[in-house]
Amino acid sequence: MKLVVVGGVAGGMSAAARARRLDENAEIVVFERGDHPSFANCGLPCYVGGEIENEEGLLVQTPASLKAALNLDVRPGHNVTDVDVTAKTVTVESPSGTHVVSYDALVLAPGAVALRPAIAGIDSARVHTLRTVSDALTLRERVDSGASRAVVLGAGFIGLEAAEALRAQGLEVAVVELAPHVLPPLEREMAFLVRAELNRLGITVLDGVAATAIESAEEGGPKQGDVVVLSDGRRLPADMIVLSVGVRPGTAPFEAAGVACERGAIVVDDHGRTSAPSVWAVGDATVSTDAVTGVRRPVALAGPANRAGRLAADSIFGLAGARPIPQPVGTAIVRVGEITAALTGANRATLRAAGVAFHSVHLHPDSHASYFPGAAQIHLVLHVRDGDGLLLGAQAVGAEGVDKRIDVLATAIRFGATAADLIDLDLAYSPPYGSAKDPVNLGGMMAENTATGVLRQWYPWQIDEVLTSALVLDVRSAAEFATGHFRDALNIPHTHLRERLDEVRAAAGGRPVRVHCASGKRSYLAHRILDEAGLDSANLSGGMLTARAWLGERADDLLEKAE
Ligand code: FAD
Repeated sequence: MKLVVVGGVAGGMSAAARARRLDENAEIVVFERGDHPSFANCGLPCYVGGEIENEEGLLVQTPASLKAALNLDVRPGHNVTDVDVTAKTVTVESPSGTHVVSYDALVLAPGAVALRPAIAGIDSARVHTLRTVSDALTLRERVDSGASRAVVLGAGFIGLEAAEALRAQGLEVAVVELAPHVLPPLEREMAFLVRAELNRLGITVLDGVAATAIESAEEGGPKQGDVVVLSDGRRLPADMIVLSVGVRPGTAPFEAAGVACERGAIVVDDHGRTSAPSVWAVGDATVSTDAVTGVRRPVALAGPANRAGRLAADSIFGLAGARPIPQPVGTAIVRVGEITAALTGANRATLRAAGVAFHSVHLHPDSHASYFPGAAQIHLVLHVRDGDGLLLGAQAVGAEGVDKRIDVLATAIRFGATAADLIDLDLAYSPPYGSAKDPVNLGGMMAENTATGVLRQWYPWQIDEVLTSALVLDVRSAAEFATGHFRDALNIPHTHLRERLDEVRAAAGGRPVRVHCASGKRSYLAHRILDEAGLDSANLSGGMLTARAWLGERADDLLEKAE
């Protein structure tokens, strides 16, 4: 068996390594067009920021180590430019010339390439991407040679990591994002918290705006630079520009050779087989079916690529019981300054687009027992299917414990858990680590309460309607109320509500009562009292914390403060 692998990093190298473990006699050749196979793509921003000090820290393996450990023939600097799926050959360009190489089985793992928007000046020498080791070296060289102003185009995961890395190196950094908020897959109320942390780091965030041109200055010194022109007319001087506006599958030669693609991504079956005989494909370059929504799209994440590579090798070598490649849930995490933002499963936008009926719960529990020092609030949202309570998605932002909760919730989604299942999870607890009711258990309780009607919710995006048609009952303390409250809201602290129900009835005058507190916890208690008293009551999901984050700058206009 001669296995040829195109692309020598995440998916490709996983396939090659697994192939060797399954067949000691196979000939396994890996063509990688870059200088380095098996490098740490995900560590590139850490090198730019200086946390990884040396280039060697990014090189997980070398061709020599891969030869020694796995007897792989790994060839960097080899670009595969064509495939003949009938003759079963690939054409490879290398420093020694162009060669035609035969295969018995072929794995395509070419990953993705950076999108380059068609704007004037995009080819300026000051515009860089961050996808390869040499990209990271170039960015570091820019920093070391005195660049002082950076503009990052695109506030996705990699864009934000690049922005933070450059800020850590002392540069003035602005991030430009076309979407209404940073980290577009995050819910708006979650992204607001990330934006606040970016601002705290000293990074300027310009969202909801496009870069329309880059005006190039001559190279020649840190004082000169390009100017990024924005759609609203603002002009951002920049010594360096990092382009991070998304990726597209790097499949051009394979699509041209007749391997079936969908919007540029290779179509595969659930074992990674493409439309061409004896050709498999894995990773960023392939179409995946979203496990929650069923939407077909490429998923650019390292975990799914690595696992798909391994499973494709199982399929190629006919391993008995070779498992299908699982549909990705889409779990992602990023550190921004002192906080972590993470998500798994579907978000509101994808659920709405898929026509799924669902409800959301917001909560702000402590990362561990509140009486034990060092607890930090976790801002958590869960999306749950109406009817059966199936967990569809979750997002969390906070300074501690976010990774653990999102990993538990990702596992729950993978195994088809419902809100009730989340309540029943036995999670590790002692005061430094969690609470007897872990945030995940609490989220399940809230979602189940919502499904059973014990809890009825309203949401920040209903605020305008609520202000015109309902009584807003604010059950925080008078001191909290004074820090900012909704217009015409009635303030009765939740501990006084039972004896002041007549006051609520009179103020409502037959209108619904929409209750809230700071986080949704005290107002849940109030909601139960109101509901049992026969009032039309609903509780603001996530309370004022979520409302302020969702409203963003509008909160200042909407909230009245005591004089
Ligand atoms: P890659 O790992 O990109 O490998 C593809 C390789 O194929 C490339 O080296 C390319 O040079 C080579 N190639 C392409 N075409 C050819 C050809 N014709 N001939 C020969 N070789 C070719 N994911 C996470 O889950 N978490 C993270 O924290 C994270 N951080 C990231 C940070 C950065 C800066 C980047 C760039 C990516 C990050 N990712 C992260 C994404 C993750 O790295 C990718 O999803 C994953 O590497 C995809 O694996 P792949 O095998 O499909 O492609």
